[in-house]
Amino acid sequence: MSELFSIRRPQGPIPASDKVRVRGMSHEELGAWLTEALGAPRYRSDQIFKWIHEKRVRSFDAMSNVPAAERARLEELATLEGHALDAVATAKDGTRKLRLRTSDGQFIESVLIPNDERGYTQCISSQVGCALNCRFCATASLGFLRNLHAAEIVDQVYLAQDMLEREAEQSGAQWPERVTNLVYMGMGEPLHNYNHVRSSLGILTDAKGAGLSGKRITVSTSGLVPAIERFGREGLGHEVGLAVSLNATTDAVRDEVMPINQRWNIATLLAAVDGVPMQRRRRITFEYVLLAEVNDSDDDARRLLRLLRGFRCHVNVIPFNPHAHAPYRRPDPERVRKFMHILRTAKLPAYLRTPRGDDIQAACGQLALEASA
Ligand code: SF4
Repeated sequence: MSELFSIRRPQGPIPASDKVRVRGMSHEELGAWLTEALGAPRYRSDQIFKWIHEKRVRSFDAMSNVPAAERARLEELATLEGHALDAVATAKDGTRKLRLRTSDGQFIESVLIPNDERGYTQCISSQVGCALNCRFCATASLGFLRNLHAAEIVDQVYLAQDMLEREAEQSGAQWPERVTNLVYMGMGEPLHNYNHVRSSLGILTDAKGAGLSGKRITVSTSGLVPAIERFGREGLGHEVGLAVSLNATTDAVRDEVMPINQRWNIATLLAAVDGVPMQRRRRITFEYVLLAEVNDSDDDARRLLRLLRGFRCHVNVIPFNPHAHAPYRRPDPERVRKFMHILRTAKLPAYLRTPRGDDIQAACGQLALEASA
């Protein structure tokens, strides 16, 4: 194992709270806690879980079917504290970037991308900053401040949905637009904050709460091999999708572009991904950010085909979105066309992803809390 790369440590822990963060509890955890702390009947957890995750209330007082004495006790012991919506920027293509202020004054970003189902795919953050140092990524320039608590991960979705409902009400639209799909591809490496990400998945997919479908959720990783193995062991591959940010076809290039490769190289990464049990109809997503004269040659395309042979997968090819924090360029359209042609001729399911929201720095790899929001 190389000593070249070490994963950054957080600048601090998740801030301690003297109250219980009930929004970050699973249905079962909430039920057990309510029984122990309040002596509440078991059915109370159904009611309270629904208030928090389906109706998305922000105060215990709003829980009208909970007895007043229990609400008062909840107020003393628990918190529904969440993020504040600090700013929203809307791109020409309808992509919206939300800047959120956490309760301890940190900023994170979350992006809403209009999708074909007349809703939004939300790209959510899992950390403040990031512990890895991918060279093409603006978030890396922030350093690694801290992990997000499960309550803070799910609250990104609830704030976005609240905003869409408010807008529908204001415009008189009959049906508010909805967050239909989630990708854990915002700030941070989700599998580096495994426990909170895992809890958030359980909460968001609970049918008695937000009820999002696991089929419409994808967790992305830059290649944290031990966590990918855990993801597989714990059966998460049966519940949600997995995306792997590959971005190179040789270790020499990947070592440079994604220094985590110095620790777990391409062969080790692909072996770990191959070991993740998945539902039969599900495919792994490989993300490939195309960097001019770095990883965009015909030889790269052919090596990519060889590397992914045997995988039930598809590849998202993303021409690089330039920003001030990275030394790379976007390949010209002809180079992109040739790269795609090689993949498609070999019948690899490959999709060219046009940058979304790049005029507001909301596109892939551009999240760095700049003034555009
Ligand atoms: S690409 Fe993802 S894992 Fe890499 S530095 Fe950016 S946020 Fe972190």
